Amino acid sequence: MFDKRSWIRLPRNVLVGRGVLSETADAVGELHLAGTPLIVTSPTPRRLAAESVAEQFDGCPMVTVETASFAEVKRVIDEAEDCEAGFLVGVGGGKVIDIAKMASDELGMGFVSVPTAASHDGIVSGRGSVPEGDTRHSVAAEPPLVVVADTGIVADAPWRLTTAGCADIISNYTAVKDWQLAHRLKNVEYSEYAGALSRMTAEMLVDNADSIRPGLEESAWLVIKALVSSGVAMSIAGSSRPASGAEHLISHQLDRIAPGTALHGHQVGVASVVTEYLHSGDMGRWQNVHDALGAIGAPTTAEELGHSPEQFVEAMTTAHEIRDRYTILGDGVSEEAAIEAATVTGVI
Ligand SMILES: [Zn+2]
Repeated sequence: MFDKRSWIRLPRNVLVGRGVLSETADAVGELHLAGTPLIVTSPTPRRLAAESVAEQFDGCPMVTVETASFAEVKRVIDEAEDCEAGFLVGVGGGKVIDIAKMASDELGMGFVSVPTAASHDGIVSGRGSVPEGDTRHSVAAEPPLVVVADTGIVADAPWRLTTAGCADIISNYTAVKDWQLAHRLKNVEYSEYAGALSRMTAEMLVDNADSIRPGLEESAWLVIKALVSSGVAMSIAGSSRPASGAEHLISHQLDRIAPGTALHGHQVGVASVVTEYLHSGDMGRWQNVHDALGAIGAPTTAEELGHSPEQFVEAMTTAHEIRDRYTILGDGVSEEAAIEAATVTGVI
C-alpha cells in the first residue's frame, strides 16, 4: 500500500535586492493578511529599517527588544494582544527574528521576516530558539509568510555577521552527511530533493567564496540567496535536518558551556571541520571545509571562537546528549577521539 505523505510549507513571497524594503507592504498586501501588524525590532535595526517599514503600515506601536530572552517573547505577546495585532513583522538580526517568530507561533499569527543581516539561516526557516537560563526554548514553527531582504542594508551590517551566515551554510555539507547516516542506520526519513538542494547551496557559496567581500552588495545577495535556499530545503524536508547535524549539536553545547562567546554560524563552521573529519578521516574533505571558512574570513579554530581546547572537547563529547538526533557522534565520542579529531584538524 502506498502511504507516503508530505506537507510542504514554504514562504510565499521572498523579496531580495536593493531597496526592496520599500515594497514590504506590497509583499504583505498580496497575502490578504487580516489585521494590523506589530513590528518587532531592536535599537539599531529600528533606525536602519523598522521606521521605514512602519511608515508603510497603519499598525501597532513598535516593540523594541533589547535582549534575546523568553521575557522579551512574553512582552511581544502582551503587546500584540493589547493592540489586537493581526500578524507580526520581525525587523532585525537573528535575535529579533527568533523572538518575533516564537511570539507569532505562540499567538498563532502569521510572521513576516525582514532581516537586516545575513547571520544565520533562521531568517528564512521556521526554526528558532531563545535562551533561558542554561537551556533554550526552541520552536519549530511555520516558515515566514514573507521574507524581505534589502541587500543595501544587509551589505552594511557588521562583516562578522555575514561570515557567520556563510559558515552556517558551509556546515550544510556535514549536516547532510549526518542526515544520510541517520537514514542508513536509524531509518530516519531522508529527502533526496532537500538533501541535494542543501548541498548545492553550500557548493554555490564555496565556489563564489572569492567574491564574498566586506561591503559588497553582491556578497550580501549571494549569502541571502543561499540562506533562502537553505531555508527552503528545511521547509521541503519538514525538519532542520538538511542544515543541522552534529556541528549544530556541538554549537548548542558550546552555548551552554560558555554562553555568548561566539556567533552561532562561526561555532557550527568550526565544529563542521571536526565532524567532517569524523565522517571521512584523513582522506576526507575536512581540509576543504576548513579552507572555505578561511577564504571568507570565518574562524577555523576554537581559539578564534574564544573557547578553550577543554571547552571545545567537552562540547564534542557531550553534544550527543542534547537531543534525539542521530549523527556521526553516535552515542558519544570518547575524549581521546575528540582530542585526536580536533588536533589533527588544527581546531585546538
Ligand atoms: Zn545554523
